[in-house]
Amino acid sequence: MNKKIINFIQNIYQTKEFISLHEPRFRGNEKKYLNECIDSTFVSSVGAFVDRFEKDLASYVGAKYAVATVNGTSALHAALMVADVSQGDEVLTQALTFVATCNAISYCDAKPVFIDVDLDTLGMSAKNLEIFLQKNCVVKNGECINKTTNKRVKACVPMHTFGHPCEIDAIATLCKKWHITLIEDAAESLGSFYKQNHTGTFGKMGCFSFNGNKIITAGGGGAIVTDDEAVAKKLKHLTTTAKVPHKWEYAHDIIGYNYRLPNLNAALLVAQLEELEDFLASKRLLAQKYIQFFEDFDDITFIKEPQNTQSNYWLNAITCKDKKMRDALLEITNKNGIMTRPIWKLMSELAMFKDCQNDSLKNSKYLSERVINIPSSVL
Ligand SMILES: *Cc1c(COP(=O)(O)O)cnc(C)c1O
Repeated sequence: MNKKIINFIQNIYQTKEFISLHEPRFRGNEKKYLNECIDSTFVSSVGAFVDRFEKDLASYVGAKYAVATVNGTSALHAALMVADVSQGDEVLTQALTFVATCNAISYCDAKPVFIDVDLDTLGMSAKNLEIFLQKNCVVKNGECINKTTNKRVKACVPMHTFGHPCEIDAIATLCKKWHITLIEDAAESLGSFYKQNHTGTFGKMGCFSFNGNKIITAGGGGAIVTDDEAVAKKLKHLTTTAKVPHKWEYAHDIIGYNYRLPNLNAALLVAQLEELEDFLASKRLLAQKYIQFFEDFDDITFIKEPQNTQSNYWLNAITCKDKKMRDALLEITNKNGIMTRPIWKLMSELAMFKDCQNDSLKNSKYLSERVINIPSSVL
């Protein structure tokens, strides 16, 4: 069986050499725009490509504004700060996520609270969110209070795992009802839609990452999208050292952050975004091949896009029957030059987040022991 999987993947990528999990593709105007950027001498934190990328991204996802940042983690941090997440607050999120989600919450001196995920989306479960809120929370003076800890639940950060959208409209409805600010961690889901709407546009803000392994990349980069003009202005201000606009004076009115995306990276991103449709088409084709192939397996399920969604299929993933089988498959594929990786260890099991409140995390635990990512580079 393992041999069959190895042969299949080598056949897809037409090589017996090393096959990585996700490598970037630069087949468009990357070099052209980079040269333009260098010739202009505007290589740093201001420049035409930054403005252009922000416009292009906002237009693609259907948001009014986009603010580019140096990476996805800083995008999350800035979004949480603008949502007024501060010391002692709690933020509802997933235990099954990349550590950056929880790090950003911690930078605000707030604490993550972990809600279980759904088995089909791998993302926050609206049902479990509702059960948690009903059991533990009350709305007092327009704020959601966790009765168990007496802390304010200020924000909710669901994540669209591997590009598969979670039940984001039901989550958005719950957040409204409970006076919680919704910030989507859409770092993995550029090109993914829930019922025609792009992920990252359902709440107050949505955060993206353009790290080297993401669907489009500039080596590093991030962005926050929003429909709220005041929020967009605050985000820009906070991420650009909080400088008060003036022709020559250095005046800053709050403690700001140097989270600006360099124009060089923005030049790359403008080119990458032009190629996104091609990447998405290729990834869909690749996912189709995997779907067909894994249909014959009884003890492996390929994770398909959830109902009502269009996934970008950023990272393809399979669920193994049990942990033993997962470990064996990881071992043999990596030994044979095929890069595969287990899904993340649960955040609730990391030393920094061990004492954070959570619900049963039943599905999170199940998936955490069984899911493997398999090669997903654009063909
Ligand atoms: C990649 C990623 C981030 C962080 O992005 P960086 O650009 O690496 O800082 C945040 N959340 C999730 C879920 C991610 O996959």
